[in-house]
Amino acid sequence: MLGGGENLIEAVAQIGKLALEREQKSTVDQLIEDPGYPYSLNILLHEKNDEFSWEGTEIEETSDDFRQYLFRNGSSRGTNYSPTARITTLSNTYQQKVLGWFKKVQRSGNSTNSYFSAIYQLLVDQQTSILAELEEKFTQLNDRAIISLKVNGQFLYDIPPFVDAFLFLVNEKDLELSAYNQVCSICGERKDTVIGKMSVFRFYTLDKPGFVTGGFDEQQAWRNYPVCLACKTFIEEGRRIIEDRLRFNFYGLSYLLIPKFILSPNLDDEDYQSIFQFLYSQDKEIRLQHKKAQSFMTTEEDILETLADIHNTLAINLIFLQKIQSAERILLLIEDVLPSRLKELFRAKIHVEQLLYSEGTHPFHFGFLRTFFSSSADKYFLDIVDSVFKKRSLHFPFLLKFIMQEIRKDFFEAESNPSFFYKVRQAIAVVLFLEQSGVLELKGGNAMGSRFDSLFEVFGQQMDTNERKAIFLLGALTQMLLDVQQSKRNSKPFLKQLMSLKMDERTIKGLLPKVINKLQEYDAYQRSHQQLAEEISTLFMTAQKNWKMSIDELNFYFVCGMNLISKVKEVLFTKEEATIDAQ
Ligand SMILES: [Zn+2]
Repeated sequence: MLGGGENLIEAVAQIGKLALEREQKSTVDQLIEDPGYPYSLNILLHEKNDEFSWEGTEIEETSDDFRQYLFRNGSSRGTNYSPTARITTLSNTYQQKVLGWFKKVQRSGNSTNSYFSAIYQLLVDQQTSILAELEEKFTQLNDRAIISLKVNGQFLYDIPPFVDAFLFLVNEKDLELSAYNQVCSICGERKDTVIGKMSVFRFYTLDKPGFVTGGFDEQQAWRNYPVCLACKTFIEEGRRIIEDRLRFNFYGLSYLLIPKFILSPNLDDEDYQSIFQFLYSQDKEIRLQHKKAQSFMTTEEDILETLADIHNTLAINLIFLQKIQSAERILLLIEDVLPSRLKELFRAKIHVEQLLYSEGTHPFHFGFLRTFFSSSADKYFLDIVDSVFKKRSLHFPFLLKFIMQEIRKDFFEAESNPSFFYKVRQAIAVVLFLEQSGVLELKGGNAMGSRFDSLFEVFGQQMDTNERKAIFLLGALTQMLLDVQQSKRNSKPFLKQLMSLKMDERTIKGLLPKVINKLQEYDAYQRSHQQLAEEISTLFMTAQKNWKMSIDELNFYFVCGMNLISKVKEVLFTKEEATIDAQ
């Protein structure tokens, strides 16, 4: 198996190739620029048996099809990539851009050498006459024009030596590191010219990929990776599309989404049509507003929901990048995610939203997770993102450490600030999402029959022991007391007993009688409270001797119970009614 880079470059080339095929553009077409001037002054040449003669000049409108002039602007002091040029002053342009071009291609050692030197000689010999004729026409025209050539009435675009020279010059820089008669790594064909070094993205060149994370072996990257000129064009077009359409923001980072077709796609297939429509529709912003698609990446739409509907004939690659001044660094590369996996993730997302939020109010996305991993914890944040896509299991205590850190920050203000509640709710959502997407182990079971079993089955898969369940329910009972305090005294002094959510086993065990006492003091110790307290003490009694739980874990289950008090009440009151009905 090769390292990550090759697979990625193939995917980029594939996107470019499909795009060009779809637009029916050739390799050359993609490189030609529109000169944007309304007229062309053409020098007309005649060729027979490699002998050239000058036939005159003509003026024509350029609006027809700009490609035929084979125009591509070079540096202002140098030549262009063909002898076609925008006229500044005729004699200068003729010297610098026309004669200059022929001089240059003769020097560059191309095999069509004699062809161009014959034309060059003619243009030098006839220079005075040609310029005189052109000057006259140009003065009459009194508008902007380009200068170009025709041979036997043919445009440069239709004359192979000019097209070859054009391609050669465009690729000249790369050709410094080229080889001849080699097999291209992308199309697998033996080609006259292949290049060994090209820059695919700013952070990635073929001879020195800038991968940092994701298993790319930098030592190996120096291997020769030959690419033919046609495939080079595909890579460039693919890169353009990806940068343009498939770059998304991601919490202070950005990511590129690169789909790769596993089977060669049938362009008429409906699945692919929708991808292409997304890839090539005109304006990303407009597109985002029109279609109400969703993603679990951010609140913004991206292409993931579209891709999730596609059978596993395609895989996606995700590259997460960080901008450091003008450079970009790869933080994470996730390769070969299948649509079936995306589907699982969307299912998990919907599951969480339905359980915890009323419809449509809080679409679940990675922002929930970001809440607990600030930008200084990018590495850990991306590590979890990686786990989610790859379905790699995550160590729960590791996650809890970050979650509790953040929750404790808001706890001081729990009395007045609702963000404590929302944060805990987000934490529960994250845990449920990770469970549902197979990243956190689904535990459950192992309990005495409890009336709250149904509740634990849904919300408490991590609460697989009686002590964990007891803590959760104690959290709920404590919240009930806090609500009573709030309504009777308009404050919640009991919060102080919770030790900034750093309670240990002893404190928790001692908390139950305190809560009961307080409720009695307020004359609010109702039947439902009593039932809940009984459940808690039974669970504590049947718990293991040694809890084997970190402080983070312990306090997390406690705040979950506080947060999900309404769900606990549901169980309490439905059961109570049922009992009353039965009597
Ligand atoms: Zn190739």
